[in-house]
Amino acid sequence: MTEVYSVPAELAKSAWIDAETYAAWYERSIQDPEGFWAEHGRRIDWIKPFTKVRDVSFSGDVHIRWFHDGSLNVAANCLDRHLATRGDQTAILWEGDDPNESAAITYRDLHERVCRLANAMTALGVAKGDRVTIYLPMIPEAAVAMLACARIGAIHSVVFGGFSPDSLAGRLQDCASSLLITADEGLRGGRKVPLKANADKALETSGSVRNVIVVKRTGGAVQMTAGRDHWYHEITQAAAPTHQPVEIDAEDPLFILYTSGSTGKPKGVLHTSGGYLVYASMTHQYVFDYHEGDVYWCTADVGWVTGHSYIVYGPLANGATTLMFEGVPNYPTVSRFWEVIDKHKVTIFYTAPTAIRALMREGEEPVKKTSRASLRLLGSVGEPINPEAWTWYHRVVGDDRCPIVDTWWQTETGGILITPLPGATPLKPGSATRPFFGVKPVMVDAEGKVLDGAVEGNLCIAESWPGQMRTVYGDHERFVQTYFSTYKGMYFTGDGARRDADGYYWITGRVDDVINVSGHRMGTAEVESALVAHPKVAEAAVVGYPHEIKGQGIYAYVTLVADEEPTEELRKELVNWVRKEIGPIASPDLIQWSPGLPKTRSGKIMRRILRKIAENQFDALGDTSTLADPGVVDDLIENRMNRA
Ligand code: ATP
Ligand code: MG
Repeated sequence: MTEVYSVPAELAKSAWIDAETYAAWYERSIQDPEGFWAEHGRRIDWIKPFTKVRDVSFSGDVHIRWFHDGSLNVAANCLDRHLATRGDQTAILWEGDDPNESAAITYRDLHERVCRLANAMTALGVAKGDRVTIYLPMIPEAAVAMLACARIGAIHSVVFGGFSPDSLAGRLQDCASSLLITADEGLRGGRKVPLKANADKALETSGSVRNVIVVKRTGGAVQMTAGRDHWYHEITQAAAPTHQPVEIDAEDPLFILYTSGSTGKPKGVLHTSGGYLVYASMTHQYVFDYHEGDVYWCTADVGWVTGHSYIVYGPLANGATTLMFEGVPNYPTVSRFWEVIDKHKVTIFYTAPTAIRALMREGEEPVKKTSRASLRLLGSVGEPINPEAWTWYHRVVGDDRCPIVDTWWQTETGGILITPLPGATPLKPGSATRPFFGVKPVMVDAEGKVLDGAVEGNLCIAESWPGQMRTVYGDHERFVQTYFSTYKGMYFTGDGARRDADGYYWITGRVDDVINVSGHRMGTAEVESALVAHPKVAEAAVVGYPHEIKGQGIYAYVTLVADEEPTEELRKELVNWVRKEIGPIASPDLIQWSPGLPKTRSGKIMRRILRKIAENQFDALGDTSTLADPGVVDDLIENRMNRA
């Protein structure tokens, strides 16, 4: 039986959305989407107010437009409109990799920095519609660069600072960027990352780039190419501190962002301006129940969509104080997250299951020795969160006091689609619960038949929402093929889900990851959660492999908690454990002890690689450019269990 965590009474009183409001708004958002979104579209400032709400087709000539006769400036919404009321409030609270380094940047200060860079970029010839690639560590200049692009209407493409020269080159070429903004070096976990040297390598094959702006972060030695490379501090000092924001049409592009590559070659997801900002700011307010005075911290990197929508655009559009962290969860110690929370009195904390599982491995003591009294809400995003990790997060980190919002969404969706609202939704550990306003999830079977009631199936979304991606940059055909060809007239998420009798959604993982054992379809997430629930297991990944009798067998990769030794006995114990937790049909056929699992640089388990190894086809691993640590894969291949 799943335990249900009811809404804390105190919270329901002060929350933006309680259970009745959720029901009423949701109903209206589905019955009268035009009216609903016309009203909520006005939450941001428009230069020319829209009169048209949406123009969408998910079939035939696939197109998606929202608020399309309106115009605005996204940066002005995030900065200028706050100056009169909160110019001296902290906009970005920056916490350095070194615990002794931090900074508070006010809205007034951030505005000036963005204006200066916008002027400097304009002087370099960058104009509306041009692509600008941002390859920076988690320093305030990353947000400044994004907002400066938005201010002049340039399209930014942020590339995670942990990517290699090759990955950067691929992304520079794909969108033909004319400007690259980078830093001398990054700093993560006490180690230096040679960003400028990587950029120089990438630029050897990226002919479109005419200018490079370099932020001095560490002061490390770098090569500056005359005529092409400019120091950030020099060109921004020389630029004027004020700037008139450029008028941008609602449907002009705001950014391109490449997906994390869990399932294949990254796609250049294109988001536009008006609808995206409406959706990012609205979800930030209601999902995190953001109130004036909150100190909000999302631990993602700005290189991922979570960093775009929930470090930069959503919070700043709402006039929030958003914390930006340069470092990693385990430096200098595994208490770092909790110490940062105490230091800055963080009230809302949003992180990923991969981080929670890693910290859980270290036990409770590193958490318990900190206070965390300021916290009132926790969030999770990126992968299904195993119930075991959920309850640990709730009990140990949140002291049984803070609701957890498990937010399901994708780079493609621009913002959160399925999520609890803290004042409205009773929680079930492991479930992303219910749809956000205007979101209409549908479950379909393999043949495309829409399924009603409590069922398991493929997750599609029937209606558009303002934050939806508009196209794959430069490849509209791939957009149509990937998302709208599998099921007619619906957006296909690629994820599988189960809907329970209460209408709650449980994301079971990617559809490709569903395994079929002797005719029983099973989501890998369920088997993984059972394994992780064992006290000796820290992390697990499950895939299918060809099995003579069953069709598919279950292959589990298991990482043990610190100090546990793999033994034959433990292997048997785990098989029996899963048998007991789920049933004989789910018991693993093969268990491989894995010191680590292959993950994307955003920390997600790359099951497609594990599948290849399990199938004994390790010479065809596909695109591995987004792999965080390729060494892990060699170890797994060497010790693979299926040598058939
Ligand atoms: P690619 O599309 O390149 O293969 P990716 O899907 O990992 O990479 P993202 O857009 O960063 O790229 O991730 C979105 C995916 O992450 C979702 O489709 C889903 O599989 C998973 N996900 C995100 N949040 C949750 C969540 N709260 N619960 C379950 N799964 C989640
Ligand atoms: Mg995806």
